[in-house]
Amino acid sequence: MDIHLRNITMKFQDVYAVQNINTTIKSGQLVSLLGPSGCGKSTTLMLLSGLYKPTSGDIYFGDKNVTNMEAEDRKIGMVFQSYALYPHLSVLKNIMFPLRMEKVPKKEAKERAQAMTKLMHIEHLQDRKPGQLSGGQQQRVAIARALVKEPKLLLLDEPLSNLDARLRLEMREEIRRIQQEIGITAVFVTHDQEEALSISDHVLLMKDGVIQQHSKPQSMYRYPCNRFAAKFLGNPPINLIETKHGQTQEKLHLHTYNQTKQILAAEQRDVTIGLRPEDLYVSSKENHLISGQVIHMETIGRDTMIRVQLQEETVRALIHPDATIQVGQTCYLGIKEENIHYFNTE
Ligand code: ADP
Repeated sequence: MDIHLRNITMKFQDVYAVQNINTTIKSGQLVSLLGPSGCGKSTTLMLLSGLYKPTSGDIYFGDKNVTNMEAEDRKIGMVFQSYALYPHLSVLKNIMFPLRMEKVPKKEAKERAQAMTKLMHIEHLQDRKPGQLSGGQQQRVAIARALVKEPKLLLLDEPLSNLDARLRLEMREEIRRIQQEIGITAVFVTHDQEEALSISDHVLLMKDGVIQQHSKPQSMYRYPCNRFAAKFLGNPPINLIETKHGQTQEKLHLHTYNQTKQILAAEQRDVTIGLRPEDLYVSSKENHLISGQVIHMETIGRDTMIRVQLQEETVRALIHPDATIQVGQTCYLGIKEENIHYFNTE
């Protein structure tokens, strides 16, 4: 079931939480809503769930216009960061609960709930109460409960935020496994770019209630549509260098090299040049495009990150930990033509 959002706007008093959203979420895909706090992710999720009705616009589930359909009729499952389990009920009874509310006979409800515990790898925890479970286990129960009614759409609102780093990684792989195993369409809200890029078929990047870019994770990373998208994705962050018409050479302290032509060619207007730290080659030989002085070095995971002082700005670059670069020395930075990003200076 494809989901279509058509001209969706949601206004609270004088605040536009989302503005004129047009997008399609393809059947069977996991789509992340990504963006900083306050950009409209949760509002969009609430609109999909039916708990909010849009100020204007229409939502379609397949061919059906569901804009005015109540939440309980939409066949959706929801998972929240808070788990929202019933503390006095066992794991199995928590999972059976939505079925019992619908008057599904006890025996059938139990069998279906047990099938869910199997899917979520929590069969051995059936009789425990939520208070006797770890955060990760509680989230597994919450997901099982969200799926037990066989919804057509699964909505997840920052489901990993309360977990520590290791569990977050484990649960994100689990969510992806289950989503693919049962082939359900899912919308996943997160402010964490790494999470969004790793888990999704598509990412919908939002800012101030407006969709900035809707694309596959890799293309969002490789081809950010504007400075905001470029900055929001990537760690360490992309280097952004604002240049005024005719000023690039001076700004970057350019050495004559083929690539120079490329940067200068783009200089018919004021542009911001984006260079990802991992795309820069660093050398102590005078054979690259940009020269500068190494002013800082630190280890991040497998790599070493250096900061290089150019004429006016500093840029970050990732280098191999064995590279013989030292703080204080002059170095030369190169980059493949196709990895240079140009953005309109906002
Ligand atoms: P996010 O989930 O990306 O953090 P939200 O969708 O919660 O963003 O909020 C988007 C904007 O709408 C914010 O400016 C927020 O303050 C505003 N907003 C959200 N819900 C309400 C509400 N119930 N009443 C008034 N303003 C709201």
